[in-house]
Amino acid sequence: MKNSFTIIAVFQYSSEALIIKGKLESEGITVFLADEYTVDTDPLVSNAIGGVKLQVYTEQAEVAKNIIRTIDPSLLKEPVLCSNCKSSNFSLKMNAKNLFLKLIPIDGKFEYNCRDCNTNFKAVEAL
Ligand SMILES: [Zn+2]
Repeated sequence: MKNSFTIIAVFQYSSEALIIKGKLESEGITVFLADEYTVDTDPLVSNAIGGVKLQVYTEQAEVAKNIIRTIDPSLLKEPVLCSNCKSSNFSLKMNAKNLFLKLIPIDGKFEYNCRDCNTNFKAVEAL
């Protein structure tokens, strides 16, 4: 049944995602890109929304991952998900104590706030 999707790779820009999408489609995999146009409209929000997500039907996920592994295994990144409920519906917020640090975020204390369960979680670089 083709009704669930799996995010198998995340890209900073849609141009990178489109190259992999083309390769996967040439191998018979159906590919959906999420947040492609949002990032194209404003590339600076890519990190805040978790990048361009490359999704495939769940039953094609392992085949698609194997194809990507033959290209570059480091492309198989896990998307940023809520640490509590695994939702991808979150916003980026800054956790600074004073106004100066909010205006000039030099300490880099950013957190994600899940819109579904209201959990704050740190941005962790996934492999
Ligand atoms: Zn959550």
